[in-house]
Amino acid sequence: MRLDEFAQTKLRGLENRGLARTPATTTRHGVQVTRQGRPLISFCCNDYLGLAHDPRVLAAAKEAAEQGAGAGAARLVTGGHPGIEEFENRIATFLGREASVSFGSGFLTNLGVIPSLVGPGDRICIDALAHASLWAGAKLSGAEVLAYGHNDLQALRDHLKQPLRGQSLILTEGVFSMDGDLAPLPALIQLASEFEAWLLVDDAHGLGVLNQGKGAADLDIPLLVGTCSKALGSYGGFVTTSKNVAKLLHARARSFVYTTALPPMVVAASLAALAVVAAEPERTLRPLARALQFTRLLGLPLAQSAIVPWIVGSPERALAAQR
Ligand SMILES: *Cc1c(COP(=O)(O)O)cnc(C)c1O
Repeated sequence: MRLDEFAQTKLRGLENRGLARTPATTTRHGVQVTRQGRPLISFCCNDYLGLAHDPRVLAAAKEAAEQGAGAGAARLVTGGHPGIEEFENRIATFLGREASVSFGSGFLTNLGVIPSLVGPGDRICIDALAHASLWAGAKLSGAEVLAYGHNDLQALRDHLKQPLRGQSLILTEGVFSMDGDLAPLPALIQLASEFEAWLLVDDAHGLGVLNQGKGAADLDIPLLVGTCSKALGSYGGFVTTSKNVAKLLHARARSFVYTTALPPMVVAASLAALAVVAAEPERTLRPLARALQFTRLLGLPLAQSAIVPWIVGSPERALAAQR
C-alpha cells in the first residue's frame, strides 16, 4: 500500500469512529486566547497558576537566552549548564527529596525511568487509567505489565500476591489527568511496603496545585515524577528520588543519556516559576478553589483537583462540545 493511501484509510477509520482530531492554531495570553481571530476564554489549559506569562518567569528566560538557544548536546557529553543542576537541586529540596533528575519532558521522564529500574523477569502493576507515558515506559521496559482497575486496591493486591522472582513496580498518577480524581496514595504506599514493591507516582497535576504546591511530596514515595509544563508554566520533566537512584538514572536512563538537555532559558523559566510557587503558597490554592466553585455552580460532583471532567457521552458529542 502507498504510504499516503495507508494514512487516508486510517484517517477514514478515525473519522467513522468520531476520533479524528487536528490541532487548531491558538494564541494564548494566559486565560484569554485568540483562535481564528476570535477572542475566547480557555478552560482547558494546564498552566494552572498563570506562570507561563508571569513577568518574573519571562524576565528570567530572557536573561538566560544570552547563554544560547540550545544546550548543545546531552549532558554526559557537554556537561550540564549551571541552571539545570540548580533546578535539580531546588526541585529536590522543595519536594523534600535527596536528589532529582531532569528530563526533556514528563513523557520522556517516564520513558527513561521505568526501563532503567525493571525489565524482563520483573513485574509492573499499573492503574488502568494511568497516563500514556507510564504505559509507554512500562511496555518499553520488557517487564510483565499487569493493569489493575482504576484505584482498585483489591485487584492490585491480587496481582502483587502472585509469586515472582523479580521486582514488582507499581505505577500510578497522583491526580488522574483525565478524570481529576486522586489515587489512594497512603493505601498504595502500604501495599508497596507489604509486598516489597517499588512505587512510582506521576504527580504532574498535583505539583503546584495541591498541598501548598507540594502535591504528594509529603508522602513516602521513592519515585515521584513531575513536569514543568503544567503548574510551572514552562517545559521539561523530572523525577525526585534518592541520591543513588538519581546517580543510576543519570548514567543509564536512555531518554536522559541519548538526548540533548533542555535549553538554559527553559530551565531558567522553570526555576523562576518554582521560586514563585515556593514564595506564594496562597497562589497554589486558587485552582482548586475555582474548580470547586465551577463544580458547585454546574451541579457536577465536587472537584478533587483542578481538573473537572464533564462527561458528555460519545467521542462525537465531546468533539462537538469542543467546537
Ligand atoms: C502531562 C502529563 C505528562 C507529560 O508531561 P509533559 O511534560 O507534557 O511531557 C506525564 N504524565 C502525566 C500524568 C501528565 O498529565
